[in-house]
Amino acid sequence: MHRPLFEPEHQVFRDSFRSFVENEILPFHARWEEEGIVPREIWNKAGENGFLCMDVEEKYGGAGISDFRYDSIVIEELANTGASGVYFSLHTDVVVPYITNYGTEEQKQRWLPRMAAGEWIGAIAMTEPGAGSDLAALRTTAVRRGNCYIVNGQKTFISNGILNDIAIVAVKTDPQAGHKGISLLVVERGTPGFERGNQFHKMGLHAQDTAELYFSDAQVPVENLLGAEGQGFKLLMKELPRERMSLSVGAIAGARAAFDLTLKYAKDRKAFGQPIGSFQHSKFLFAEMHTEITIGQTFIDQCILDLNAGTLTNDTASMAKWWTTELLKRVVDHCVQLHGGYGYIMETPIARRYLDARVATIFSGTTEIMKEIIGRGLGL
Ligand SMILES: Cc1cc2nc3c(=O)[nH]c(=O)nc-3n(C[C@H](O)[C@H](O)[C@H](O)COP(=O)(O)OP(=O)(O)OC[C@H]3O[C@@H](n4cnc5c(N)ncnc54)[C@H](O)[C@@H]3O)c2cc1C
Repeated sequence: MHRPLFEPEHQVFRDSFRSFVENEILPFHARWEEEGIVPREIWNKAGENGFLCMDVEEKYGGAGISDFRYDSIVIEELANTGASGVYFSLHTDVVVPYITNYGTEEQKQRWLPRMAAGEWIGAIAMTEPGAGSDLAALRTTAVRRGNCYIVNGQKTFISNGILNDIAIVAVKTDPQAGHKGISLLVVERGTPGFERGNQFHKMGLHAQDTAELYFSDAQVPVENLLGAEGQGFKLLMKELPRERMSLSVGAIAGARAAFDLTLKYAKDRKAFGQPIGSFQHSKFLFAEMHTEITIGQTFIDQCILDLNAGTLTNDTASMAKWWTTELLKRVVDHCVQLHGGYGYIMETPIARRYLDARVATIFSGTTEIMKEIIGRGLGL
């Protein structure tokens, strides 16, 4: 499909990132899935080649290009190839913007160059065993004592949970104040009292390290507070649309990739003397999926431009997130069915895509929470 939002320079970047994925990621990805983690070197290589933190200013080691189309290309190429273990987007599109947008000059100098170089890997820790959708209910506390915050609590399901060197952690600095008592602290690897737990065994995304984080009288320097005390919830609400866009971009690209490989299969595979794709039921299914993916892509491309222009609203990002991830879920399910028994065999790429896709409607705000946000925006 022709996508007028991209200029020739984006295609150059796409070609370059695609060959990086083909040479540096795909040959090793199956092994990383077995190991349950990707090596740090791939982050270093991505940083060296300019594939991380593109919009970080040059003086902090980035390319200084504030254009989400580049971020989208990285997300799309990883989704196209099914390289689901390399979670660059969490680092570039979710974690780093908190520092570029709300960090002090000293914080930016301290963290951004190493993050842009891929030497330090980022994570964001909001979810707790007892608080996911209901963020205001989080219980991890941070009490100021001298030059440190003393942090106690537990975070769960944290992506880059093992690899991270720097985690933005949502804490309660005023437990009585509900969401107004939430603050964001940046916790570095090696902080006394900060430990990571074991990795979760997940249904999919096998090369992604998802883990628990523990804080037991962890001593976080006061200089690591992002923004002001009590501002955390506001900052999260401001940044979540970008996070949700990154997932939407990946979801629509993943749906297209699953569709493409299944279409090819359905043209080759024969039953009753004809390609299985030519049965009217299959043909109509392909026609419906093609239509929905094309419509979805058009909407996402407009959202990318809106994000660039600073006009993407929380409601629109929520629409994008729930609709594209639900579409992805439907598409991979149809695609497994169209593969017949082979669709259930792990050696068939669609089987892994099916398992990888399932979480998309859950993390970064569930479908139900997205609809809550949209409903609230409608005054309901
Ligand atoms: C692989 C993976 C990676 C993740 N990465 C991160 C990460 O890096 N950082 C991080 O902080 N978190 C991360 N998460 C956590 C994720 O964001 C949460 O799991 C998600 O927000 C849902 O929270 P919960 O699991 O507590 O579910 P709950 O909040 O307990 O929800 C359970 C069910 O109840 C529904 N529900 C809840 N409230 C309402 C409501 N008001 N109306 C209607 N239905 C409702 C939900 O939609 C859901 O269906 C990750 C999760 C996974 C699985």
